[in-house]
Amino acid sequence: MAELKDTAFLLRRVAYGDTSYIIHFLGKVQGRFTLMARGARRPKSPFRPRLEPLHELQLTWRAGRTGMGTLTDVERGSERVDASRGLEGLQLCAIAAQVFRDGDPHGFAELARAFSLLSERQPYTGMLTGIWQLLSDNGLIGSLDHCWHCACADEHLSWRNAEMCCSDCGGGAPVSAGLRRAITAMMSTTTVRMSKRDLTMWQGMIQDVLRQHGLKPVNVC
Ligand SMILES: [Zn+2]
Repeated sequence: MAELKDTAFLLRRVAYGDTSYIIHFLGKVQGRFTLMARGARRPKSPFRPRLEPLHELQLTWRAGRTGMGTLTDVERGSERVDASRGLEGLQLCAIAAQVFRDGDPHGFAELARAFSLLSERQPYTGMLTGIWQLLSDNGLIGSLDHCWHCACADEHLSWRNAEMCCSDCGGGAPVSAGLRRAITAMMSTTTVRMSKRDLTMWQGMIQDVLRQHGLKPVNVC
């Protein structure tokens, strides 16, 4: 069988048998896909030190006759998130692993963007910014300047059931115009400062969106 190649990010690996892994990737061309990495858990496997998350990986594999392909080579490329943001980077992978499903042609560019947002900011705010971007890419959140039900641009918007609401559409916990502007600015600049209170509110909104859509909440250290 012909060999295939792609540049990919490692999303998660699942132990298989005594020595192998089933690995979920987001490929530049392939989107979300899965490969068998035979023997990759053996101490001397050449795959073992190269199969790192948070790096671009150059993969080569043989297509499977019926389903999953088999990894035949992996080269580790550039690091996209450095070690000081490693835990936050893995949280972005965990979110990406849930919002991009097997066979989804998207994901690589979206996760690369989230990694950049994280790398350019403080770890915690960078993680929130990256997650917000991934949720936005998947249509789970909208713009913060209007009600997500009736689209009116009310000055007083609230947060209810993981959605931005105007008072006519049901109200909820008020989200100040300052916080809404700060989140929007945070997506495009690195100089925004947010108060602890605003960060806590933003984190709560993110957890709420994840819960509402049946996704696992983020582990916050
Ligand atoms: Zn409304």
